[in-house]
Amino acid sequence: MSAATAEPAPGRGQALNPIWLGRLIALVAGVLLVLYPILSDNLYYQNMIILSLVFAIAASGLSIITGLAGYVSLGQGAFVGLGGYTVGVLATHHPDTNVWLWMPLAGVTAGVVALVLGLVALRASGPSFVIITVAFLFLVQVIAINWRSLSGGTEGLSLPIPTWNPDIMNWPFYYALLGILTLQLLLCWWIRRTKLGTGLVAIREDETKAATIGINLPVEKMIAFVASSVLVGVAGGVYGYYLTFIDPRGMFNILLSVETMLALLVGGKATLWGPVLGAFIVEPLNEYANNNLGGGNTKLLIFGGLLVVIVLFLPQGVLPAIESMLSWLRTRGRAGPVGARIGTGGSLASLTARLSLVDRESAPDPTPLLEVRDLRKTFGGLKAVDDASFIVQEGSITGLIGPNGSGKTTLFNLIDNTIHADGGEIRLAGERIDRLSSWARAHRGLGRTFQITRLFREMTVLENVVAAQRSFSWGQLGRIAVSGPEAKAAEELLEYVGMLAFRDQKARALSYGQQKLVELAQVLMLDPKLILLDEPAGGINPVLIDRMSEMIRELNSYGKTFLIVEHNMPFVLGLCDPVHVLGRGRTMASGTPDEIQKDPAVVDAYLGDDFVLEAAEAATPGDVPLEAKNR
Ligand code: ADP
Ligand code: MG
Repeated sequence: MSAATAEPAPGRGQALNPIWLGRLIALVAGVLLVLYPILSDNLYYQNMIILSLVFAIAASGLSIITGLAGYVSLGQGAFVGLGGYTVGVLATHHPDTNVWLWMPLAGVTAGVVALVLGLVALRASGPSFVIITVAFLFLVQVIAINWRSLSGGTEGLSLPIPTWNPDIMNWPFYYALLGILTLQLLLCWWIRRTKLGTGLVAIREDETKAATIGINLPVEKMIAFVASSVLVGVAGGVYGYYLTFIDPRGMFNILLSVETMLALLVGGKATLWGPVLGAFIVEPLNEYANNNLGGGNTKLLIFGGLLVVIVLFLPQGVLPAIESMLSWLRTRGRAGPVGARIGTGGSLASLTARLSLVDRESAPDPTPLLEVRDLRKTFGGLKAVDDASFIVQEGSITGLIGPNGSGKTTLFNLIDNTIHADGGEIRLAGERIDRLSSWARAHRGLGRTFQITRLFREMTVLENVVAAQRSFSWGQLGRIAVSGPEAKAAEELLEYVGMLAFRDQKARALSYGQQKLVELAQVLMLDPKLILLDEPAGGINPVLIDRMSEMIRELNSYGKTFLIVEHNMPFVLGLCDPVHVLGRGRTMASGTPDEIQKDPAVVDAYLGDDFVLEAAEAATPGDVPLEAKNR
């Protein structure tokens, strides 16, 4: 039922399968809605349904930018108002034209305004974004009040009275809104399944991480914002015509936006049907409060109270709560999730075609793949990276070591633009990349894992891997995310890292080591030339450490270049050549593992006098890390 829920395999359907039950309820509700005006001529309830439909469309649109992308907007009501005013202004200026012909233009107005607003607002996030959307709502209200020649100012506009048969007075509005809601739901359903939708969820879960796996943030957020407003504008046009009178205080009332947000939260913000359910709960409540409880303060009290109850007791909304209760009822008494284990790993051979891994038989002379020159970053007075310079040769497994706090992670953050550098140059394959965005760097062949893994927790393992976007194209955004050759490639990569058995589990359910493996598969999906690994052996068990170094060696033999930060000395010294040593943000030494171990400055600053001895004792890679010693 929820757009985010994976469907179970066919053939497992039972009487109480929540998905089919949900679909049945939705179908019955849909049929009832379609038939209602024919069955009953009660205008009070027809009016209530019409208003609920307007809110359902607004909330469902909002679920794209707020539910999927995580950007909370309190300006959604403005698009209803803009649609209403577009139709109102055009209809009063062209009294002889059929009013319905203006409805598409209401959508265009809303879309264009969303585009312009998005260019400004989507640079901000969190509370700043909320404030900008509220400010926008008041801004359009002020414009509507003061641009009297166009909008009629505070006196408002009267639209032409409908000329059709009074017996079916409400029908055209009713069915037009029902049609728009259907389109809006189809749009939401489709977006959630596309690469765009996966990208939006990635943005909601972890925006900076999303950028590092090639997701073009501004483009995806802009599309989401426009998609969340166009049909709402059309609905606003119909709503304005239905009211036959519009004024700035009514059309741009912030309560409309609050009520829309409430409908979204009550129903379930990341679900398909939640916003509709929410609208049909909140709007009748609103009517009841207006008619029977005196409106005004009582209404605010009810809405405020409802908001508190939802946030405290049903943070996910009503629909997800019902869903998880049903699935709990279904699985009660059965064994928990399959006790899947990390696989032994597949072979790279099957991947070579798809991921353009090339066998480096005839290795050319090494050329620098990554060149870092005089890279700088200060945090307040602290020079975290202080004119660091080094080179990573193509085809190498280069190590980067240094005491805790020496700036290794910050250096990675600067290389992939997770943090902006204060100065310096970065070249990848000869091209300067230091002015490029994170996703542009990813598209040029830079992949990176994080010291503390950053998977998208609410996505499945397979969705996490498929979320990576190797390049940007508009067409690709519209493709179904988990399908075709890409899904196949993602499965093969999961098989390779030994995590295929977990493909349908949520990433948050994985252990730390498992997350590291999935993050590696995710980065490999980018088919990167250079892979930065931040402590790949940190916090995982010895068997997994062995497997990790085996995979790195194998990928390297197929042409992947690595830059690895690691504290586990046997791991680094057994795998990496050359090794760069970072001290207080500067590269203080570079050389082969042997040279590094003998360098007095390095031993003194970092490794400690008894290090060489211990490294020799720990002959096999994967033994107890010396990490603890070095911290
Ligand atoms: P390493 O990965 O080598 O252990 P880091 O790069 O994480 O070191 O940190 C280098 C220094 O920069 C540390 O002193 C750390 O406290 C500081 N630092 C890192 N990130 C930030 C940040 N976002 N804000 C302020 N200080 C930071
Ligand atoms: Mg670190």
